[in-house]
Amino acid sequence: MTSLDHNVETAEIDKFSALAHRWWDEHGEFRPLHQLNPHRLQWVQRHVDLKGKAVLDIGCGGGILSESLAAAGARVTGIDLAEPSLQVARLHALDAHLDIDYRLISAERLAAESPQTFDVITCMEMLEHVPDPASIIKAAAKLVRPGGWVFVSTINRTPKAYLAAILGAEYVLRLLPKGTHDYAKFLQPAEISAMGRACGLDTADIAGLHYQPLTQRFRLTSDPSVNYLLALRQAA
Ligand code: SAH
Repeated sequence: MTSLDHNVETAEIDKFSALAHRWWDEHGEFRPLHQLNPHRLQWVQRHVDLKGKAVLDIGCGGGILSESLAAAGARVTGIDLAEPSLQVARLHALDAHLDIDYRLISAERLAAESPQTFDVITCMEMLEHVPDPASIIKAAAKLVRPGGWVFVSTINRTPKAYLAAILGAEYVLRLLPKGTHDYAKFLQPAEISAMGRACGLDTADIAGLHYQPLTQRFRLTSDPSVNYLLALRQAA
């Protein structure tokens, strides 16, 4: 894929746009993201002090992660291709007194415009929704400054992840609307590592995020077989 604006599936953007008014309902469709958020933020902070850092949040949605990064002292830019979500994100940031720059632009186009601009890039729960995830990783490698970090989270492509993320979350527990995820688009950690390696990003760390249905909580673990986080780093 060579175009700067074509690595996007319209049906995915429509799906998120239709739910945009629900981003900040902690008991609604995005509840799992609210529950995940403190853990992924904590994991990012294990690797980097966010104070004063220029951070780009790719696929920011309504800004759940972007706001927490900004509250931790980062200067945050959030990008997404669903305008209704960006509008919700902008209003919510105003209410929260957080200064976040939300833009409707693809990662590929921003990389062409502003290479080596960010100290930290986050791209969470987004790669499983794009046609060409390697192109997003390549854009992140271009956008990050030498020595900078790229943090990615997504869902593994394992039978266990199929059971937990699709059958469990969409059909049994109804945590997510049916059709939220497509198993074929799930990525294994080694695949993301290889995408990173191909553009100068080394994998520095990996962690699992485990959902406990009884307590309805996530926790960080060392088992990446369902949800996981990867920390990639650009050579200094
Ligand atoms: N990262 C946020 C939202 C995850 S939901 C969080 O974890 O809280 C996935 C987001 O990716 C949605 O907001 C959707 O609009 C966005 N998205 C899907 N395809 C995209 C693309 N090609 N470019 C940018 N954002 C995209």
